[in-house]
Amino acid sequence: MGKLTPMMQQYMKIKEENKDCILFYRLGDFYEMFFDDALIASQELEITLTGKNCGLEERAPMCGVPYHAADSYLNKLVEKGYKVGICEQVEDPSQAKGIVKREIVRIVTPGTNISQQSLDDEKNNYLMCIFCSDGCFGISLVDVTTGDFRTTSVDSLAKVQDEIFKFAPAEIICNDAFFISGIDLDYLRDKMSVMVSGIDHYYFDEDQGIERIKQQFKVGNLEGLGLTDNPMGTIATGALLGYLHETQKSSLDHLMHITPYETGEFMIIDSSSRRNLELCETLRDKQKKGSLLWVLDKTKTAMGARMLRNMLEQPLIDKKKIEERYDALDSLTSQAMVREELREYLNPIYDLERLMTKVSYKTANPRDMIAFKTSLKWLPPIKTILEECRDPLLTSLKEQLDTLEDIWGLLEDSIVEEPPLAVKEGGIIKEGFKDDIDKLKRAKTEGKQWLMELEERERKATGIKNLKVKFNKVFGYYLDVTNSYKDLVPDHYIRKQTLANSERYTTEELNQLADTILGSEDRLYALEYETFVNIRETLAGEMERIARTANVIAQVDALASLAYVAERNHYVRPKLNLRGTIDIKDGRHPVVEQMIQNDMFIPNDTYLDQKKNRVAIITGPNMAGKSTYMRQAALIVLMAQVGSFVPASKANIGIVDRIFTRVGASDDLASGQSTFMVEMSEVANILRNATKNSLLILDEIGRGTSTYDGLSIAWAVVEYISNPKLLGAKTLFATHYHELTELEGKIDSVNNYCIAVKEQGDDIVFLRKIIKGGADKSYGVQVAKLAGVPETVIARAKEISRELSDHDIASRAKDIQPYGEVQQLSLFQHTDEPTMEHPFMAELREKNLADMTPLEALNYLYTLQEKL
Ligand code: ADP
Repeated sequence: MGKLTPMMQQYMKIKEENKDCILFYRLGDFYEMFFDDALIASQELEITLTGKNCGLEERAPMCGVPYHAADSYLNKLVEKGYKVGICEQVEDPSQAKGIVKREIVRIVTPGTNISQQSLDDEKNNYLMCIFCSDGCFGISLVDVTTGDFRTTSVDSLAKVQDEIFKFAPAEIICNDAFFISGIDLDYLRDKMSVMVSGIDHYYFDEDQGIERIKQQFKVGNLEGLGLTDNPMGTIATGALLGYLHETQKSSLDHLMHITPYETGEFMIIDSSSRRNLELCETLRDKQKKGSLLWVLDKTKTAMGARMLRNMLEQPLIDKKKIEERYDALDSLTSQAMVREELREYLNPIYDLERLMTKVSYKTANPRDMIAFKTSLKWLPPIKTILEECRDPLLTSLKEQLDTLEDIWGLLEDSIVEEPPLAVKEGGIIKEGFKDDIDKLKRAKTEGKQWLMELEERERKATGIKNLKVKFNKVFGYYLDVTNSYKDLVPDHYIRKQTLANSERYTTEELNQLADTILGSEDRLYALEYETFVNIRETLAGEMERIARTANVIAQVDALASLAYVAERNHYVRPKLNLRGTIDIKDGRHPVVEQMIQNDMFIPNDTYLDQKKNRVAIITGPNMAGKSTYMRQAALIVLMAQVGSFVPASKANIGIVDRIFTRVGASDDLASGQSTFMVEMSEVANILRNATKNSLLILDEIGRGTSTYDGLSIAWAVVEYISNPKLLGAKTLFATHYHELTELEGKIDSVNNYCIAVKEQGDDIVFLRKIIKGGADKSYGVQVAKLAGVPETVIARAKEISRELSDHDIASRAKDIQPYGEVQQLSLFQHTDEPTMEHPFMAELREKNLADMTPLEALNYLYTLQEKL
């Protein structure tokens, strides 16, 4: 250290305190990086690696980026998962004694990046903090670019994962215990591209955290925030705020509210179902196009787009809240003119939330203010139009909509229509807003007049006809005299500079005039800047009102989009029930129907209930449309609970608590697990976590193993699911195993369906219509033929198929006794040879009740009950 140059010593000291960051160290017009940082950055950013003399024998590796273009380099590093510390000169170099003082002014991480360049307007950019202790988890998450801040706590790792998948944060910070909670870090990092880092335990200190929360939200206690019953979430929130203060080092005033939520308020959709159902992006290429969001999102503003995505990620389970949304959609579909006018007014509205963040970070420039003003202009007409909507939700949104006329007025009076980007070069403030500014401006223009008069006077006095007053940046104002008139120059002229063809002079009078003019210009720029900053501060003071308005606009936009799509795509308002019946007439797949041209999509009914129609076994050849049919049912239920109308002619939806899907080949091959293993862990997850109020979509369970194993597993799974004493969830179950159709009739609640095909000679035609009954053939060979497999192979396959069918297992499947008949499901019933026994049975049998005290017996009962 001693050998290093003083500047390098300063660098090392700052780097030492911020080891986990790549340090952007400001040197003149560049941000420089040294040593390992330079090696990493030169490679990641593809910039040249050089060296700098640092006092040691070897030169220090160095690379740099120009400060005015730093943003794009910075974003690149952050997107690649690095933290970048921005180290600025914090004193004027000309005033500095010795080395210029430097400090980290901001640490940019994936979850705290506010650069518009790198963020998707239509998506939130969340930073999530997870506090894990004794199997419980506090979760807090914030989008610093919009001010969206939430917290919850959950009691299992699976639920933490659900929240992570729901919000897809860019960055997770956590305590050490989270790392050993069993979380799959590789998955988060590699598959979800989340940056996960542990932060020091002192961030999680409860008392300090509470202090931070109270300060941030300006409250005396936690009650008002609704955090008192959520100690784990409170600790996570305290830590999150600590981390933000540490990294942002600037005002976080725009984070004004925190919303505590219960995971139980929303339908739970686990990660693989989210992916399988392609809610916000497609499975294959992760594009929005082709997803449900792509169909539903016709929002006009970025705020509305984010709101709609949020609604889709979190379908509701409260009937009343869902119906409020339906009512709003009714208002907006029945009055198409009103809706379209509304959408037109929404169109020009800028992203108020992200503009407010800029105001809070003091980076909003005069043009941002004009964008802001232009947006505010449309608020009063929006409010007026909302008067036309009589439903409770839109009426309450209308009442909450603060049209912010005072702020519009302030901006209208103060800032010129086309201001420059720069804030320190004047030209920002309108005439008439501030007397002093007008006076200085006048001095500036009148100064020009004074100079012209002076020029005229001097010409007359000296007789130099082409004498001119000129200006340049080095000498300021001067009198220019060409060589031919040199002799006429009077004595009181002071020479400033001699050029080849002319001489430059000044006079006392000119000097004084120049001082007034230039001085007033400096003062004008300073005063304009100060005034601009004051206006920005005023806005910052009104943040609360602006945020509320932004939220209202986002909701109105999202609802208008749903209504527009509902009308355009002929959706209907579903009915909701709590009996658990799902009854869809002429349902369509919302995305596939958009992809297919000329209304060729064939609608189908779906009926499931809690009694005789709990499980539908769906058979039919490949390509018949089984997956489409099952996903369509899941999507319709999901859309209904989002509050959207649905693609059907009629729908009555029993609200579900969870949707599980196990569809098609898994994309987890790369993770090293076999397809079968992945499939079985998903099945395990479903069977453990589903309830009788869940909807299950199971496609080809047991496919990844031998026919016998596969069929047996599928069989047992259907028995388990259909049995209300074990699970009893509504299920659509597509399978290749025709033997499973034997279950109809053996188990009351199981019914067979198939997707019709028509044989035409040797070929088949897909009719896409679901009908009652099981398919008797799988038509695999015909489908193979359709796909273009060579005729020789097809012919041989037919031969083999004829041979094998003699040994078909179907006949033996007929003889299998259903589970319910071998063993009645009463918990305490004794059978000699139970084929499948409730786990409690064995445990109970082992217990020596005679040895137990009544209290022990009671405790034991409790533990049993806990496991139920
Ligand atoms: P399976 O799961 O039975 O192999 P898919 O559900 O993948 O079949 O459907 C195959 C193709 O058939 C889909 O890509 C879709 O284009 C088309 N399809 C499915 N259902 C319908 C329908 N109801 N109307 C029109 N086309 C459909």
